[in-house]
Amino acid sequence: MRKDVRILLVGEPKVGKTSLIMSLVSEEFPQVVPYRAEEITIPADVTPERVPTHIVDYSEAEQTDEQLSSEISKANVICIVYAVNNKKSIEKVTSHWIPLINDNTDKDSRVPVILVGNKSDLVEHSSMETILPVMNQYTEIETCVECSAKNLKNISELFYYAQKAVLHPTGPLYCPEEKQMKPACIKALTRIFKVSDLDNDGILNDNELNFFQRTCFNAPLVSQALEDVKNVVRKNVIDGVCDNGLTLKGFLFLHTLFIQRGRHETTWTVLRRFGYDDDLELHQDYLFPLTLKVPPDCTTELNHNAYLFLQSVFDKHDKDRDCALSPEELKDLFDVFPYMPWGPDVNNTVCTNDEGWITYQGYLSQWTLTTYLDVQRCLEYLGYLGYSIISEQESQAVAITVTRDKKIDLQKKQTQRSVFRCNVFGDSGSGKSGFLQAFLGRNLTRQNTVSEEHMSYYAISTAYVYGQEKYLLLHEVFPDFDVLSDTDLACDIVCLVYDASNPHSFEYCARVFKQYFMDTKTPCMMIAAKSDLQEAKQLYALTPLEFCRKHKMPPPQAFTCNTADAPCKDIYTKLTTMAMHPHARLRCMCTCNRCTFCHLQNFINSELVQTVKAKLYTAILSRYVTQADLKSSTFWLRVSAGATVFAVLGFAMYRVLLKQR
Ligand code: GDP
Ligand code: MG
Repeated sequence: MRKDVRILLVGEPKVGKTSLIMSLVSEEFPQVVPYRAEEITIPADVTPERVPTHIVDYSEAEQTDEQLSSEISKANVICIVYAVNNKKSIEKVTSHWIPLINDNTDKDSRVPVILVGNKSDLVEHSSMETILPVMNQYTEIETCVECSAKNLKNISELFYYAQKAVLHPTGPLYCPEEKQMKPACIKALTRIFKVSDLDNDGILNDNELNFFQRTCFNAPLVSQALEDVKNVVRKNVIDGVCDNGLTLKGFLFLHTLFIQRGRHETTWTVLRRFGYDDDLELHQDYLFPLTLKVPPDCTTELNHNAYLFLQSVFDKHDKDRDCALSPEELKDLFDVFPYMPWGPDVNNTVCTNDEGWITYQGYLSQWTLTTYLDVQRCLEYLGYLGYSIISEQESQAVAITVTRDKKIDLQKKQTQRSVFRCNVFGDSGSGKSGFLQAFLGRNLTRQNTVSEEHMSYYAISTAYVYGQEKYLLLHEVFPDFDVLSDTDLACDIVCLVYDASNPHSFEYCARVFKQYFMDTKTPCMMIAAKSDLQEAKQLYALTPLEFCRKHKMPPPQAFTCNTADAPCKDIYTKLTTMAMHPHARLRCMCTCNRCTFCHLQNFINSELVQTVKAKLYTAILSRYVTQADLKSSTFWLRVSAGATVFAVLGFAMYRVLLKQR
């Protein structure tokens, strides 16, 4: 909202400018007035729109042309005053004052003008007949008003209109020539309609209308008022009301009506509530709230409420309920954005279904990724979706959890984070991309169908660690040593990938490790990729196994994505586990069946635990969930509660096992 409003009065001498100002201030007609009134400031709390208002007089006798020009350019709104009984003063409006104002103001941001016919007490007839054609000719004329300083008629109104012309300009909203709203206004209102249409059926039903009303005007509509509104629309537009709810057509009609009746502040209230500024762009403060501070060594994640909101957005657009977004559904979802935020690479960053469409899980993963990598962008996107409005929060920033400093996590040997970053290093051709894509469940055959320019350097999906769902973010690092940045090196776990069939491949991993990670606390894991091919002896002083032993790493993990079905995902669970417990030195990722880790893994996978787990889930599910609302928010909530129970159980077992040893 603006800081203040500056109103300038101009016009021929003796039309009553000074008298108008004095009448407003003293609420009586002054018999004697100076040439020019002092500038006055009306404090915010006594003006109708609660904005401090300066009123500035002009007098030809006391001011130069330069002073006048300067005042015109400083003004937010200009009242051209004429006397209704003085023809010459009316003629001068078009012959002198409007051109003068136009010369002194920017073409693109014309100040609104109000035509004021003073001394209405002296004539019987109105000057409107002469004035209306002028109004139609000049679009910068916001309105016209007849008044009398002597009778105190329409004086407050005049200053209210002036204030309103600044605070709620019609210019950006409405085109008087075409008698309809401007495209930018229609676009903004269409977006608002879509955001408010919570079930995405193209109709605002009573619930949605009430929510909308409460959001914008802090009061629900009483049911009679709701009916009245619908009746007005019914009478005036075909298809304006459908199934007893307001269609987009009806919604736009209502706003056109508000504006035409001079109640455009209503439309402005709606627009501003949904984050729009005076140019009908979404406000920077709305899209990029400054309240969020992310210290180094902290990461950004979405909180539970934000996931619930995103889930509801998914549900509302997954019309065929196949738990995936078809290209049309995705387009519809992003219709409230000024641009399409997700390119084809997203389909290769997250899980998709057989048709290559982003699944529910993939959709949440992508949001998680954006939040992690670029929280500002995430806030911007949430702003387009209307997160803060729909979830009745102060700003988008409340959607974000800034995690605890990683150093504290390490100290306390536990973490509350749910996203872990794994940077994947390896020489070109070593199989990094295959390793990333396999995490999304894609074997080599499937990967080969993806075109090069749609490939992604990220892959994100979930892994279960002790029954808790965590996100693992894989990032493929460009193999050129010289361009490694700090973010390439900062991560929770490092994967070093070499091509087991290429004798020259391992050396790169050894070099990266020695140069960058040998002296850090970041856990590292060696991956022997392409294990389906004939293994080659690596041309390096130590064998990969010896190298790993020497540097206290787990032995190289054989990996292949050249499988008939989806590649095995165990390795990603291991990586996530290691990322979560870097202190635990669960470095033995073997299958030796002797160490604690293996015991634990075996125990968790044992039939007994699986049965318990299954029973636990069934119990939780059957208690809270019916088949029909499997995708509803409660489901998500209960399952995460279930996961927590299971995690606690998992830790208890782990402790028991440790004791036994
Ligand atoms: P300015 O030169 O435009 O500032 O005009 P003034 O305020 O000095 O007024 C010029 C003359 O018009 C004064 O004699 C006022 O008393 C008179 N006057 C101003 N407003 C009205 C009005 O509404 N009705 C009548 N009858 N006289 C007015
Ligand atoms: Mg004067």
